[in-house]
Amino acid sequence: VSAFANIAQAPEDPILGVTVAYNKDPSPIKVNLGVGAYRTEEGKPLVLNVVRRAEQLLINDPSRVKEYLPITGLADFNKLSAKLILGADSPAIQENRVATVQCLSGTGSLRVGGEFLARHYHQRTIYIPQPTWGNHPKVFTLAGLSVKYYRYYDPATRGLHFHGLMEDLGSAPSGAIVLLHACAHNPTGVDPTLDQWNQIRQLMRSKGLLPFFDSAYQGFASGSLDADAESVRMFVADGGELFAAQSYAKNMGLYGERVGALSIVCKAADVAKRVESQLKLVIRPMYSNPPIHGASIVATILKDRDMYNEWTIELKAMADRIISMRKELSDALRVRGTPGDWSHIIKQIGMFTFTGLNQEQVAFMTKEYHIYMTSDGRISMAGLSSRTVPHLADAIHAAVT
Ligand code: PLP
Repeated sequence: VSAFANIAQAPEDPILGVTVAYNKDPSPIKVNLGVGAYRTEEGKPLVLNVVRRAEQLLINDPSRVKEYLPITGLADFNKLSAKLILGADSPAIQENRVATVQCLSGTGSLRVGGEFLARHYHQRTIYIPQPTWGNHPKVFTLAGLSVKYYRYYDPATRGLHFHGLMEDLGSAPSGAIVLLHACAHNPTGVDPTLDQWNQIRQLMRSKGLLPFFDSAYQGFASGSLDADAESVRMFVADGGELFAAQSYAKNMGLYGERVGALSIVCKAADVAKRVESQLKLVIRPMYSNPPIHGASIVATILKDRDMYNEWTIELKAMADRIISMRKELSDALRVRGTPGDWSHIIKQIGMFTFTGLNQEQVAFMTKEYHIYMTSDGRISMAGLSSRTVPHLADAIHAAVT
C-alpha cells in the first residue's frame, strides 16, 4: 500500500484549471477566454517574427554553448532589462544602484523578491490589491510574508476605488511593502491615472512604504513600452527605493521560456552590491541558476537596434488587436441592446476585461455557450477574434437577460 494512500486530491488552479476544463469539452464552438495568453485572429498562439530571427542567430552561432549561467543569470540580459523598465537615461542605472537578477519569469521574480524581503527587511507585511492576480497571495505567503489587502476596485463604478486605496495605504504600518501592478492591472484592467499615481507615490514615500512593482504587461497595455513603465519611473525619479518584477511572457510571447528579471533599486551603489550578494543566497538553494535560452533571445533582441524596433512594431500590433476586440465586443452588445452599461469594456486596459458578470452567469455561459473564463467574470480579450465576438456577445446577452 502506498505511503500516500490517504493523500487528498488537490483542486485545480483557478486560472489554469479553466484550460483543463476547456480541453475536455468536445464542442466545436468552444472558446477559451481563461488564461492570459495572446492568440492571433485565427485563434493560434503567436511566436513573434523577431523572436524567430533571434533564435536563428543563436542556433547559427557556434560559440553558443549550454554551460550554466551564473546564479544571477545572463549579465547582458540583466542590464538591458533594467534599462527597459527604468528607462535608458535612468539616474539609478547610471549611479550603479540597481541590483538585477534573471529569474523564472514574473512569478519567479516575485518569489525571489518576496523571499529576500522576508529574510532582510524589517517589515514582513505586504499589501496587495483587492482583487489581484490569484497567485500573488500564495507566492508571498510561501515566501514568508504576511499578506494584507488594500481596496482597489469599485464594483459600483467598475473603476478604481481611489479613495479606499488611499485610505488603506494611509493606515498601513510605516515601512509596509505594497504590491503595485505597473500597468494593465490583472484582473480588473483598471489603472490609476498619472495624477493618481503621483498621489499614491507621495503618500507611500511620506509613510516610508516600500513599493514592489509587478510588471507583467509592459508594452501590452498601451502599445508603448515607455508609457507602460511611467508608474515605475515616477517612483525611481524621486530617488527612493523599490522592487520591480518583470516578465517577458506576454510582451515577447515567451511564456514557456520562463524569462523575467527582478530589479531592486537602492539608494546607493554599495547597498545594491550587498543586496545582489544576498539575492544569490536566496536563488542558489532554490534552483541554482536560471535557464539560458530565453534570456539569450531577449538579450539578442534588446541590444540590436533593428531587432528592438521590429519588436516594438510586433508588440504594438498585439496591443492594437486587443484594443480592437474591445471595440468589437462593445459594438456587438450595443447592437443586441444588451441591458446595462458596458462602457468599461472600452475603458479597461490590457489583456483582460473584468466584465462584472457573476459566478452564476459565468457558469451559464460555460454550460450553454461553451465559453470558458475565470469565475470572477474576467475574460481574456487576447483570446477573442472577430469570428468569436458575436458568439460571446450572444452568451453575455443571454446571461444578463
Ligand atoms: N503578474 C501578473 C499580474 C500576471 O498576470 C502574471 C501572469 O499572468 C504574472 C505576474 C506572471 O507571469 P509569468 O510568471 O508567466 O511571467
